[in-house]
Amino acid sequence: MQIKYYPLRRIMAQYEPGLSKALADVATSGSYLRGNCVERFEEAWSRAVGTSHAVACGNGLDALSLVLMAWKQTKGWADADEVIVPAFTFAATGLAVVRAGLKPVWCDVGADALINVAQAERLINARTRAIIGVHLYGRICDVDALRALKARHGVMLLEDAAQAHFSAIDGKRAGGLLDAAAFSFYPGKNLGAMGDAGCITTNDEETAKHCRHLANYGAPEKYYHQYRGINSRMDELQAAVLILRLPHLERENELRRKIANIYRLKISNPVVKLLPEAVPQQTEVHHIFPIFPSNPEHFVKTMNEAGIETARHYPLPLHQQQAFKEFASTPMPTGEWLAQFEVSLPIHPLLTPDEVDHICTMVNNFAAI
Ligand SMILES: *Cc1c(COP(=O)(O)O)cnc(C)c1O
Repeated sequence: MQIKYYPLRRIMAQYEPGLSKALADVATSGSYLRGNCVERFEEAWSRAVGTSHAVACGNGLDALSLVLMAWKQTKGWADADEVIVPAFTFAATGLAVVRAGLKPVWCDVGADALINVAQAERLINARTRAIIGVHLYGRICDVDALRALKARHGVMLLEDAAQAHFSAIDGKRAGGLLDAAAFSFYPGKNLGAMGDAGCITTNDEETAKHCRHLANYGAPEKYYHQYRGINSRMDELQAAVLILRLPHLERENELRRKIANIYRLKISNPVVKLLPEAVPQQTEVHHIFPIFPSNPEHFVKTMNEAGIETARHYPLPLHQQQAFKEFASTPMPTGEWLAQFEVSLPIHPLLTPDEVDHICTMVNNFAAI
């Protein structure tokens, strides 16, 4: 049995022949940017997420950057004003802050791999402008506690929802929980394009409008540049793919949840830890299913020999990355621990019951040496 971590070719083949037809329709339309598909996707995505605005852009890093750039400009933040970022996330969360000319201040995560909001509050000072809550692995971070911080300290709150397509808490979906949110539709995400794509969602009209202008060279009107913007567009081909896949997202997430439940039920190996269980109000979408074996290198090798491909998310926390060396920080013990031990099991809608069974057996047979 050979189990790929994420068999992208087979994932996309599910949508044939509709996929090739949708791509051919764009090819013959003569409209490749700023067309009808992007507009339709924005409408569908904002409706699905439950926000009044969705602004499509080039990728998830741009989506995060554009929101921070927009807030910095509209709210008059200064260079090197501070944004609190969880130290354990994908690098893009921190890169967006630096790119917007702001300073990332690292905050540790809790045992659930989500931002430790109590610590975030202790990091707030007169220069703190925003906090980024990352819904890592597809589980929503403590948005209630973050909103309480906003009420007490007036900071802006940004969701990194790149891994949380249709994650929900009390029936409310990620993307509409805080002041604005950034999504990525990188091919490997739960809703993936056939290249790069991203989107901003928000209920704030000013944020949406400013992001839209910034993504269009800072020009509200062609050739009249009011701000120093960037070029970040979703193209029509990507939008057509996303429109085609969107109606299947809920069902695919449900398949991921079924597999996660089996993993939770069947994996019982004292040398392999799992994340704590989510509260019942959470609807997780399991973009990643992380486990924490006592000897991850040996575990990855053993699984490979059993034909099971795994991944690591993420082996080095942000405060220890070379790219962020000037942003010194105290140790982040929980983030460091998670980074040291994390291994991701395959979890995707095409896994068969036999494959899931085989994975559970092999995880349970693993003996740390
Ligand atoms: C994928 C991802 C991003 C970046 O998205 P891109 O589209 O690859 O730029 C940002 N944050 C998190 C948590 C991600 O998983």
